[in-house]
Amino acid sequence: MTFTTDELDALDLAVEGPVLRRGDSGLAAEAAGQNTTVVRDPDVLVGALTEADVQAAVRFAAAHGLAVHVLATGHGVFAPVTGGMLVTTRRLDALEIDAEARVARIGAGNRWGAVIEAAAVHGLAPVTGASGHVGAIGYTLGGGLGPLARSHGYSSDYARTFRLVTATGEAITVHAGEDGHPELFWALRGGKGGFGVVTSMDFELVPLTTFYGGSLFFDAEHIPAVLRAWARFTDTAPEEATSSVSLLRFPPLPVVPEALRGKTVVSLRYVHVGEPEEAERVFAPLRAVAPAVFGRVGEMPAAQIGLVHNDPVDPGPAWDRGMLLDLIDDDLIEAFLDVLGPEREVPIVAAELRHLGGATLRDVPGGSAVGGRPAAGTLVLIGVPDPALFDGVLPAVADGITARLAPWVSASNTINFAGDLSVPGSFESCWAPEVLERLARVRAEWDPAGMFPYPVVGRVSAGAGSR
Ligand SMILES: Cc1cc2nc3c(=O)[nH]c(=O)nc-3n(C[C@H](O)[C@H](O)[C@H](O)COP(=O)(O)OP(=O)(O)OC[C@H]3O[C@@H](n4cnc5c(N)ncnc54)[C@H](O)[C@@H]3O)c2cc1C
Repeated sequence: MTFTTDELDALDLAVEGPVLRRGDSGLAAEAAGQNTTVVRDPDVLVGALTEADVQAAVRFAAAHGLAVHVLATGHGVFAPVTGGMLVTTRRLDALEIDAEARVARIGAGNRWGAVIEAAAVHGLAPVTGASGHVGAIGYTLGGGLGPLARSHGYSSDYARTFRLVTATGEAITVHAGEDGHPELFWALRGGKGGFGVVTSMDFELVPLTTFYGGSLFFDAEHIPAVLRAWARFTDTAPEEATSSVSLLRFPPLPVVPEALRGKTVVSLRYVHVGEPEEAERVFAPLRAVAPAVFGRVGEMPAAQIGLVHNDPVDPGPAWDRGMLLDLIDDDLIEAFLDVLGPEREVPIVAAELRHLGGATLRDVPGGSAVGGRPAAGTLVLIGVPDPALFDGVLPAVADGITARLAPWVSASNTINFAGDLSVPGSFESCWAPEVLERLARVRAEWDPAGMFPYPVVGRVSAGAGSR
């Protein structure tokens, strides 16, 4: 142990939130996250209640040579924490909406759901991810591709400022202006980790009260036709429309709606932010492919955008691997059906294809670090949630699927979608080589001692549900 009980007691007195050390009874609960297979056993944990708490925690860590890890919701890509300092951010839950300026000031403890709800009161919406349960800041630091991706781009495009506690314990405001450390701002918009602890961000909101969308589920016999029609749809889809398909193998459990229970189905998701009549017209050929057994696509309040993907919210064991696609075409669908189709016995509960392009292709003025801009789509494989499969079977299955789909899989990736990083080089592939080098320079400047470890090492798995 690199610190004494007296020193830890002094830290406890200095901070408002809880301070726990290894072996304390509350530590496991405080360090728990969405993916229950990830062990977090730090030497010391600070449950930050204020930005000053984060500063005190970082200064303590610096003084005692401890690495600093951050936990928001535990949905993210991460390795086990086996020592050092863990700062939990869930109590930093301040949230203010400036409706006139169309900006949300989001404390690091907020999930997207809270931001969506608060913004909706003003007819505004954040450009969020698929799940309202994911942490707004952890998500945005990695870029973020959600159900508004084609119409609005990456979520990180909407970050305006970050409050960051750096390795020296100083709290700074980071933005694109000359006095805002613009190079660090560039890095925080998609570079993910290794820069410090973000305590809050100002995030631009977009005017959106309703959208036309939802999801339809089709039985196994219609899966090939739905997937083929969707691939053709992506050829001509307007930027207003963001869509995805997910091949789902539901367990025979009572929590699953009866129409889907124990079945292999495809879920077709659609979000269109234009006029409802036009949105319906664009969607009509997809709706006409086959009768849906479950779900609805129609006009919806913007605040219900999380229902489109309807990701599970209960914590549990989780394994997934994601990649980007250079192209979505008919042959991709045939290869996808060949390896993942309903007649295949594969330990993959969800195989999701998303359509990118439109606004995701356009970088922000001044640029940002986010990886994957040129991609045409994403593929995410979510494994059977059995931890016994996580270290060998699922990576091997995913390797096989990836090899079969190699002609479409992009050489580059984006960090929020990567999930399992067990393949050598997969972390590095999340940014273009010159971006990776530039990020390393920014980290070396702001965290020369490597106090905020990044990249993470060890088994790396993301959270439950689809992305
Ligand atoms: C069900 C589900 C749905 C998802 N949907 C999408 C999606 O639609 N689009 C998409 O792009 N991604 C999606 N993701 C991926 C998700 O965006 C990332 O996993 C993200 O890292 C989650 O952030 P978090 O803060 O909730 O998680 P955490 O696990 O708590 O944090 C993950 C990492 O983010 C960093 N971090 C978090 N907070 C801070 C902070 N305050 N300061 C500094 N670093 C911090 C740290 O490096 C940390 O290790 C999804 C994941 C899941 C499990």
